[in-house]
Amino acid sequence: METLFLEQNICFSAIFFILGAIVGSFLNVAILRYNTGLSFVRGRSMCFSCGRELSARDLIPVASYVMLRGKCRTCGSKISPQYFSVELLTAILFLGVYLKEGFSLTFILYATALSLFVFIAVYDLKHKIIPDGASYALAILALFSIFFEGVHLSLPNANDWSAGIIVALPFVLLWLVSRGRWIGLGDAKLVVSFGWFLGLPLGISAVMYGFWAGAVWALSALCWQLVMVRKTRLSTNRNRLTMKSEIPFAPFLILGFTIAYFFSLNLFDLPF
Ligand SMILES: [Zn+2]
Repeated sequence: METLFLEQNICFSAIFFILGAIVGSFLNVAILRYNTGLSFVRGRSMCFSCGRELSARDLIPVASYVMLRGKCRTCGSKISPQYFSVELLTAILFLGVYLKEGFSLTFILYATALSLFVFIAVYDLKHKIIPDGASYALAILALFSIFFEGVHLSLPNANDWSAGIIVALPFVLLWLVSRGRWIGLGDAKLVVSFGWFLGLPLGISAVMYGFWAGAVWALSALCWQLVMVRKTRLSTNRNRLTMKSEIPFAPFLILGFTIAYFFSLNLFDLPF
């Protein structure tokens, strides 16, 4: 009986991992075509160097990239590691949500939410802008989630309703005070969903983890740069990071959400 259960579990884990990889491959297309007027579903994918249309065996998520060693089959030019990374990351996230939630309504909710988060994080990394449409979709999904306690319908109380707004409030204030120079309003729109998905304590925790991760990254990048500048005596590099550099913040916030969600790591429960 127990081995059967285990086998079933492994089988479902594999199915959701593969499903995640397929969704990831769709996210890559969406990231590439969002705001370009091109359709997400129509039009074949092709190599950007030689223009050859990709065949089915070039389009297997994760596996094709590994088998081709990251190069186009025809012209041998490098394929961006973004495709592989997004597919693998989404696959791991889907597997994680399945292991945490089982297959239920909550799985669909969080698998959809994390797909949108991956889309936002990578889009922000590439274009330094958070696509509003994805944030609004997340906010609606998150608002929907407060009507459920696990899989059971439950009427939200005042705490549930206010959580999203309270988590976003400091971002709105920072945006107002700095007139949009320190942060964009996109960050505020993004974190509304944190509060509604996770509740207030976990939602705030997620934002704090995001801040810390961002700070650690920025400091290490600055130090690394100092070392490199001293080594090579190069001081005029256009890509230099300064205190005024614009750092995409959404990826860090989303990392914070992932930590708070998967590990239910509540900052206010930690023993310090
Ligand atoms: Zn090619």
